[in-house]
Amino acid sequence: MMNYDSLLNKTALDIPPSGIRRFFDIAAEMDDVISLSVGEPDFPTPWHVRDVAIDSLQKGRTGYSPNKGFTALCREICNYYSRRFGLDYDFRTNAVVTVGGSEAIDLAIRTLVNPGDEVLVPQPSFVCYAPIARLAGAKAIPIVTRREDEFRLTAQALSRSITKRTKLLILPYPNNPTGAVMRREHLEKIADVLRDTNIMVLADEIYSELTYNNIPHVSIASLDGMKERTVVVNGFSKSYAMTGWRLGYALGPEPVISIMTKVHQYAIMCAPTTSQHAAMEALRAGDDDIVKMRDEYDMRRRLIVRGFRELGLDCFEPEGAFYVFPSILSTGMSSEEFCEKLLREKHVAVVPGNAFGECGEGFIRVSYAYSTAHINEALRRIGQFLKEENIINETRND
Ligand code: PLP
Repeated sequence: MMNYDSLLNKTALDIPPSGIRRFFDIAAEMDDVISLSVGEPDFPTPWHVRDVAIDSLQKGRTGYSPNKGFTALCREICNYYSRRFGLDYDFRTNAVVTVGGSEAIDLAIRTLVNPGDEVLVPQPSFVCYAPIARLAGAKAIPIVTRREDEFRLTAQALSRSITKRTKLLILPYPNNPTGAVMRREHLEKIADVLRDTNIMVLADEIYSELTYNNIPHVSIASLDGMKERTVVVNGFSKSYAMTGWRLGYALGPEPVISIMTKVHQYAIMCAPTTSQHAAMEALRAGDDDIVKMRDEYDMRRRLIVRGFRELGLDCFEPEGAFYVFPSILSTGMSSEEFCEKLLREKHVAVVPGNAFGECGEGFIRVSYAYSTAHINEALRRIGQFLKEENIINETRND
């Protein structure tokens, strides 16, 4: 008999599975479920992008690409970052195309940290940073971001967390799950702390195209002295509704990108060729698609924030991404209890806030990348649920 527990990598064995999928998986077994649990655009990829991919297949372009991605795609990515965020990167040395933003995060962390290093992870935030840091032998140090600070990372909280072992700061804005955005003035304060250190930044900018209230996304790499200490991660999943194509990229200083490319070469070889053809079209001709989808998300964002506030739940107004993060403290239930009960009793799936770090306890993450009909029905059921739990007196009528 094999003793797998003694055989398996201890860290891999130890890290918990993602709390996002758990409720999604229970929901998949139930009938009549309204799920607001997944962070995935409900739009299909725009047709002109799909057409280019189909055309590339018809022409038989089905082989490997260069390790770091097609040169033409690297060039488009760098043009795009220059055009949109005022950052100039050299497509020959500063870019690598990856399997989703996910692989870019993995590569950046594995390339930058040594065993024993500390990686600062502002939370609540996306689930992958701390597990990947731990798998690389580093220690993930959470930094709590608070509702009172609109879930932004503050310079004070950052300064308090820095030690001699700090190697990397994750900067996850626009934020999943809170929807918080760091504006230029907030980033300046973070940059002031970092400029005198040897700490690198991993800026996860996957939601950079999804900001609202006319707030432009600002990349920390565009601030004075920050480009040389930042690896930017982005991708096509969220901006262009291309989750299944699995395509992303990293931009950064040549010495870092070249080692990331080496790791990528051994682990992945190259990102999917068909997806790379599609991505070139998205970057060249996808601006209007982004605007259309963003306007639609914005409309849903207003609807859902108003809905939760009408139900009496404190709901921070998100300025980016496509999630709301209402507080359920007033219900007296834990986040897990709330989500489990809501799913069993009303067949509505949302994600407990503590899936994004312990400090997410007392909140739930609700994705509004769903139709308004879907959102309205979920709000109606949540209203009924709160009423039956004697938390509010009135149900919502629409
Ligand atoms: N970063 C954040 C903050 C995310 O929310 C996600 C996906 O939900 C990713 C990265 C990974 O996206 P992908 O690998 O599809 O590019």
